[in-house]
Amino acid sequence: MIKIILLLVWLVLLFFVIYSLIPTMYYLFCKKHPFAIDKNSKRVLLMFEDGPDPRYTISLLDILKKHKVQALFFVVAKKAADNPAIIHRMIEDGHLIGLHSFEHGDPWLKGPVYQERDFTTALAIMKGLGCKISFYQPPWGHLNLTSLWLAKKYHLKIILWTVMIGNWKKHCTSQKVLNRLIQRTKNGSVICLHDSGYGKASEAGAPAQTLDAVAQFLPLILKRGYQFVLPEKIIRSDI
Ligand SMILES: [Zn+2]
Repeated sequence: MIKIILLLVWLVLLFFVIYSLIPTMYYLFCKKHPFAIDKNSKRVLLMFEDGPDPRYTISLLDILKKHKVQALFFVVAKKAADNPAIIHRMIEDGHLIGLHSFEHGDPWLKGPVYQERDFTTALAIMKGLGCKISFYQPPWGHLNLTSLWLAKKYHLKIILWTVMIGNWKKHCTSQKVLNRLIQRTKNGSVICLHDSGYGKASEAGAPAQTLDAVAQFLPLILKRGYQFVLPEKIIRSDI
């Protein structure tokens, strides 16, 4: 009996490594980034994920508009369907919208059937909202064999980050967020922040601190000569 249990555990682990871990590691360490920002120029990409959240995203859009900054929003399609006006505002303001799954399920723990339904449902919702989706960011940066295949099938370029600062935690105060943003922003940085405060991915109240930090960060970094660019303008021609 113990041998059978050990065999089952071993098989589950093997499946996890082949289906989830290897595709993620492959993407992280072997695949070329789908776009490259010239490290010799002060250009950076600002991304937000997990929204839209009516409690925070509208204020965030106001802050971005004030400083004429455009960002890439990786939205959760289920939340987008509940907040179509925010999605339309993003489009009007010239932001780019990418896919961050239908309901933020962890791809490491989801099988092929769930994953395919997640993609197709999410893409149908986003199409209905008038979005042409070209970019995908997997929840937690976790990939699996199915999500890699689906991204290819739907011509979505996968984008991960180079700067992640833990701003989804309530204890990461706005001052901490601001300090980390200033310290870690370099030429070519791909900065990922969060604009939603419910669900496992982000603690309630944390996005308000992020917004406070972003409102201080943008004028400061713009004054230092940095420019915010969108990936559609810097996509590598060979991919
Ligand atoms: Zn997320």
